[in-house]
Amino acid sequence: MLVDNHGRKINYLRLAVTDRCNLRCFYCMPEDGLNWLSRKELMTYEEMLQSCALLVKMGIEKIRITGGEPFVRKDLMKLLKALSDLQGLRELTITTNGVLTAPFVPELKKIGIHSINLSLDTLDANRFFTITRRDEFGKVIETLEQLLKHDIEVKINAVVMDGKNTQDIIPLVELTKELPVSVRFIEEMPFNGDGHVYTGLQWDYIRILDEIKDKYPSIEKLADPIGSTSYNYHIPGHKGSIGIIAAYSRTFCGTCNRIRITPQGELKTCLYDGGVLNIKDLMRSGINVDDLQIKLLDAFGHRAKDGWEAEQNRNVNAPAHESMATIGG
Ligand code: SAM
Ligand code: SF4
Repeated sequence: MLVDNHGRKINYLRLAVTDRCNLRCFYCMPEDGLNWLSRKELMTYEEMLQSCALLVKMGIEKIRITGGEPFVRKDLMKLLKALSDLQGLRELTITTNGVLTAPFVPELKKIGIHSINLSLDTLDANRFFTITRRDEFGKVIETLEQLLKHDIEVKINAVVMDGKNTQDIIPLVELTKELPVSVRFIEEMPFNGDGHVYTGLQWDYIRILDEIKDKYPSIEKLADPIGSTSYNYHIPGHKGSIGIIAAYSRTFCGTCNRIRITPQGELKTCLYDGGVLNIKDLMRSGINVDDLQIKLLDAFGHRAKDGWEAEQNRNVNAPAHESMATIGG
């Protein structure tokens, strides 16, 4: 079992397989996109697989594939298939924007992926275009339908943005009436690649909950699973549930069980840190597995206490404004 210097169990890896994306969500990246990483800068699937195999041996039980948009990377299914065969891995899952995902759903089901996070900030096609700067709403809804049809658990991620989609909070909650989905509202974080100035948080988890309670006073609190980043709720009579993620307020750091690997192989032991070691560079320099394991253990033994400390420890010339597509969410 992996335990950090604050006694927190680490068992969850988020692996970002690319920084590229087919949407341009304004809270994540500028309209012109990013300075995309070259093929050489990206971790290869082989390197990802080797890192994951080692981390699973060390105690990682759950891997989430993210990005950028994971399905824009060629042959993603090959990586997923290989990861799904890793001995000791209990759960393999994906976060996707759903634009290219629908045709892969039957195959995802076949390799044992039983839960997917689908990002969808609005149920209005025009607002979807304003937020993502692309006209792909229909394909995302098709993915949602395919996932439900194939009995894959769906968590819908919606970032709450002042002046952009707060009118969608209630319609998204209402999705849970007939659909067995979990709709999770996420506080907006400053990771927008400087596509727009982050003016500070207008809608924190308390304000989001108050908005829902106003319409649904009978909303009930559910127990939050260990390591959960969301406060979970249920409206009596609804098939699905609701989550609120205090991603900016950082109320969940005390039980944080996750680490991240960025598309260029940087290990992050906190969402808000600037990267603590580069696994890809170490592998390419010929490090052996035992020495890599020692370096990883050292990194897990020096984790920041929380996201505030991690942010403070960053290089002053590299504040926490990079695009979320280079982190993986
Ligand atoms: N492209 C995929 C997607 O959108 O689902 C996976 C990568 S995306 C970076 C992962 C998650 O991060 C998405 O649910 C997205 O909404 C969220 N995200 C991106 N930028 C964010 C920000 N500035 N604040 C809060 N959440 C953000
Ligand atoms: Fe792409 Fe996901 Fe970022 Fe939107 S949130 S731009 S879909 S990586």
